[in-house]
Amino acid sequence: SERPVGSRMDSVFESGCRDPLEEAQKPRANAAFVVLARNSELDGVLSSIRSLERHFNQWFNYPWIFLNDEVFTDEFKDEVKAATSGKVRFGTVPAVRWHVPAENDDPLFFSEAIEEQGDRGIMYGSMPAYHRMCRFYSGYFFDHYLVRKLDWYWRVEPDVDFFCDITYDPFKEMEAHNKKYGFTIMIKELINTVPNLFRTTVAYAKKNDIKLPDSWSLFSKDLEIARGTNDHLYRDVKDKDQFWKKLQGRVPLYRAMRWSDTNEDGIDSHSLKVLADYTNGGGLTNVPADRFDNLEYNLCHFWSNFEIGRTDLFQSKQYRDYFHFLEESNGFFVERWGDAPIHSLALGMFLNQSEIHYFRDIGYRHSTLEHCPANSINQRPYSEGPRYRHGYSKQEEDYWLKFDS
Ligand code: GDP
Ligand code: MN
Repeated sequence: SERPVGSRMDSVFESGCRDPLEEAQKPRANAAFVVLARNSELDGVLSSIRSLERHFNQWFNYPWIFLNDEVFTDEFKDEVKAATSGKVRFGTVPAVRWHVPAENDDPLFFSEAIEEQGDRGIMYGSMPAYHRMCRFYSGYFFDHYLVRKLDWYWRVEPDVDFFCDITYDPFKEMEAHNKKYGFTIMIKELINTVPNLFRTTVAYAKKNDIKLPDSWSLFSKDLEIARGTNDHLYRDVKDKDQFWKKLQGRVPLYRAMRWSDTNEDGIDSHSLKVLADYTNGGGLTNVPADRFDNLEYNLCHFWSNFEIGRTDLFQSKQYRDYFHFLEESNGFFVERWGDAPIHSLALGMFLNQSEIHYFRDIGYRHSTLEHCPANSINQRPYSEGPRYRHGYSKQEEDYWLKFDS
């Protein structure tokens, strides 16, 4: 297939099988699997362990690290130890790292924000634990004392499957090829979980004068203010020409209208509030309303339930500053920012695309989505079809083409 201009294609480390016993004679990386899980997820955890042990770790014996906001039960620990070939460590996440600061500082604000997202049907929006988990994976997992000393982590979740044997050491190959982050699946985020994430990220990049590398283009696209894409939102406007003229100069207002476009019922009460906020120059706390480029998030992200990455990506001062900036904006509870788009946008700001590896040869399933190499090294990353109405989808960029061969 045709290679788009500017693409930075990386290739598979190995297109066939190596002899894993021979590979296992070579030195290991300073790496481990990292699994955040609840005691109640023991069955799913065992299932993931068995899959990965069978297809990879029976030869390589990398250690496993399990983290939990509660103490693991003896049953959990015993069963996990019996299923793993490498060393196993269990760690607790201290409450100060797990809870969102607002839970203590302003409990009413916190709980109302969470409840409100439930009312609006935001996926997982009404679950405080989910917000905590996303924040933990965004800002703290790499600082846990068990993870901190690693060079590499491989994130694993309960109930995932690996389909194909992985007969080489991905950490060592990544080291050898100067890769810093690897993924198997790219998908689009639900826009109503992250309405202000991109805007806040751009504000951070501007404030710190970050020179955006080529990988930034994986995640951003030009915002086109095209008349006629949101008809149902301004059906009551009398002088439509005048309205559009005004709108052209108001990217924030236009953007707010586009968010509401994701709601099948048309404009909802939240969108109206957002519109009003923007019209009044409001919004999140640390993002002045004039901090806008004519850019928007294409919603693409690396699906973070599978990740193989360097811990120092996130331990760097620049990533910590970025996380802190995000934290200050309250988006971890006022919105339901996922760690996946946050990791991805950070990679977009801090890495060259050549430092990102697409593990197209790793067969992987999580929930209903899977990536199957299908004996083809040219397989494109999984991407969901357009989920938007006509008018919006035509502006969608084929972001995954940038990883095509
Ligand atoms: P999804 O994949 O986005 O549907 O989210 P999951 O429910 O799978 O959660 C992502 C990861 O965080 C999984 O590894 C979960 O086991 C873990 N996780 C989520 N919430 C909690 C929690 O409250 N406590 C602990 N210890 N782990 C959690
Ligand atoms: Mn999951």
